[in-house]
Amino acid sequence: MGKVAVAFAAAAVVAACSVAAVMVRRRVKSRRKWRSVVEILKELEEGCDTPVGRLRQVVDAMAVEMHAGLASEGGSKLKMLLTFVHELPKGTEKGTYYALHLGGTYFRILRVLLGGERSYLDVQDVERHPIPSHLMNSTSEVLFNFLAFSLERFIEKEGDGSSSQGVKRELAFTFSFPVKHSSISSGVLIKWTKGFEISEMVGKDIAECLQVALNRRGLDMHVAVLVNDTVGALSLGYYHDPDTVVAVVFGTGSNACYLERTDAIIKSQGLLTTSGSMVVNMEWGNFWSSHLPRTSYDIDLDAESSNSNEMGFEKMLSGMYLGDIVRRVILRMSQESDIFGPSSSLLSEPYALRTNSVSAMHEDDTPELQEVTRILKDLGVSEVPLKVRKLVVKVCDVVTRRAGRLAAAGIAGILKKIGRDGSGGITSGRSRSEIQMQKRTVVAVEGGLYMNYSMFREYMDEALVEILGEEVSQYVVVKAMEDGSSIGSALLVASLQS
Ligand code: ADP
Ligand code: MG
Repeated sequence: MGKVAVAFAAAAVVAACSVAAVMVRRRVKSRRKWRSVVEILKELEEGCDTPVGRLRQVVDAMAVEMHAGLASEGGSKLKMLLTFVHELPKGTEKGTYYALHLGGTYFRILRVLLGGERSYLDVQDVERHPIPSHLMNSTSEVLFNFLAFSLERFIEKEGDGSSSQGVKRELAFTFSFPVKHSSISSGVLIKWTKGFEISEMVGKDIAECLQVALNRRGLDMHVAVLVNDTVGALSLGYYHDPDTVVAVVFGTGSNACYLERTDAIIKSQGLLTTSGSMVVNMEWGNFWSSHLPRTSYDIDLDAESSNSNEMGFEKMLSGMYLGDIVRRVILRMSQESDIFGPSSSLLSEPYALRTNSVSAMHEDDTPELQEVTRILKDLGVSEVPLKVRKLVVKVCDVVTRRAGRLAAAGIAGILKKIGRDGSGGITSGRSRSEIQMQKRTVVAVEGGLYMNYSMFREYMDEALVEILGEEVSQYVVVKAMEDGSSIGSALLVASLQS
């Protein structure tokens, strides 16, 4: 071999070695990056951990806070609001009634026809529309004009057949925000939640705002009741099954109500109702306890929200927020490793990942996780390897599992407060026989998250059995109430007329 050839061969060896070295370095680096992503997942799992012992602490805290909220105004983060609903529909109601429901994402209008027996409930013309986003920070006049206009169109479509001439149409207004009631048909807005921000409406009577808007349009409709969506769900639950005493909504936001004895509502001493009880709107979204497993993602989400330091429970378990918690985890993973490819500005955008996409990824059963690929691509993250897509599914699982399990703890907390959890509640003075005699209890549940996200439902059901135990949980029936908040409110109007 000539000198030139030797030098050439040596150079080739050196080059090969350095290529190999670069490759090894890259592999080590990529392994290190993969490890850092796995580390983030591990940290998330630890932060979201909800062993049954911790859930029981949340149960106790919920029951204690319920007591405190009933004892005095401002006594707890749970407002425990009076609804002035003390009789629930029985099934004998008759007539045609309307409901308008303003949720966090959708508004719904429907009509129900009742024939005087439980089996004769005809739900007609259910309209569901997304709330135009500009309304969420408009003015009360713009918002209520829009609602009145929508009702007018609904009524125009029905022709003359549905309401007797000259008789006012009776309307239920289901309003999914905290209201301080002065009667079943009046109450003022306490604060907005779920991203709504029309500050001049705080303190205004909601039913009156709607009635004025209806009158302005010359609509012959009477706002007969103003109810929280949970109260609507409870009403429908009770109509079908009188063992229904609790209702919970998992939609854009989350809230619960239940039937309470009036003598337990200490802050309203002297409150008398014919039934001896009243539905209490807990506004449980604002529940807080140091036992809740909180991560840095929750803290950041809260700090950047329009209602920071409020609705801490809701921010861990409702449809508006789950997607954003998952997005924040993926964003951090993408910042600490290039495993997600070049950085995506979309991924940094608050609420860019919706909770329906989380459930779609979580429940993606294609072998290549095509749905995950598609959703990540929409977020500006393309061509991530399968193992990374699996990791994203795991993140969805951790966040939703925590949500479902906390939801169960919340429900068990209410059951504890009313002595239906098999422990006899937290008040003393119950006899042993009372403690041991377990009553059948139905919990009505509704909302888009619960109805459409089966893994959330499964985690909730599983945790409820874990908390209550096999025996007691046989007496607790969770029933889905599709459109319960709207239908049930219309039933409530009917029950007031009969
Ligand atoms: P609203 O809160 O306006 O009363 P819904 O009760 O229908 O309306 O809840 C809508 C919310 O439910 C959506 O904003 C979303 O967060 C959640 N949701 C709807 N569909 C799904 C789904 N397939 N998977 C997960 N969450 C869903
Ligand atoms: Mg709702």
